[in-house]
Amino acid sequence: MNLHLESNALPTLVIASSNQGKVDEFKRLLSNYPALVIGQPVGIEVEETGKRFIDNARLKAIAVAEHTGEMTLADDSGLCVEALGGAPGVHSSRYANSDRERVSRLLNELEIFSNRSAFFLAALCLAAPNGKVLLEVEGRCDGFITIEPRGNDGFGYDPIFMPKATGMTFAEMGFDEKQRISHRAIAFRKLIPGLKNFF
Ligand code: IMP
Repeated sequence: MNLHLESNALPTLVIASSNQGKVDEFKRLLSNYPALVIGQPVGIEVEETGKRFIDNARLKAIAVAEHTGEMTLADDSGLCVEALGGAPGVHSSRYANSDRERVSRLLNELEIFSNRSAFFLAALCLAAPNGKVLLEVEGRCDGFITIEPRGNDGFGYDPIFMPKATGMTFAEMGFDEKQRISHRAIAFRKLIPGLKNFF
């Protein structure tokens, strides 16, 4: 007998992040999904020592699932620039001290190159309450690095990333337009059908 159905209670899904902005974005992306989506409890620190985005998503999902005893979803994402050998990659959030400095460092390092190709990648990992990995997916968005920042929306590297065939940076698009093509949205679209098997 399914107690969840009988009591009408929604299953819990913990988002392995203490960043409220990220938890809110996950809630919005999962808003049609029948689960109670919550952030991780305070005080859990997971070191992101992986070489690939999926390694870090897995580390976070397993640690938070084992700590909470709940189904847990974790992500890791970043920007990979071809001429820089894939940098900043898994170091995207630690490339400098602020978004403005990260953007400025990237533009300076890319100045001598004509190849401006880059892509954003997002990896998602779902772990069971016992820490077993259940699902892993990736979403990718290909594009170019602009010569200078453009647009005021978004966060991170949005003002210098122009997805292919759009003519606009992420920071010049509205939220809905970005959600249509972004690496994170693509990863989520791949995740949802699989999620349904585990609740
Ligand atoms: P995470 O929270 O460890 O996944 O950090 C990902 C980092 O990659 C962020 O701090 C941003 O610098 C960058 N990043 C990931 N996704 C995006 C995006 O959609 N726009 C701009 N920057 C992003």
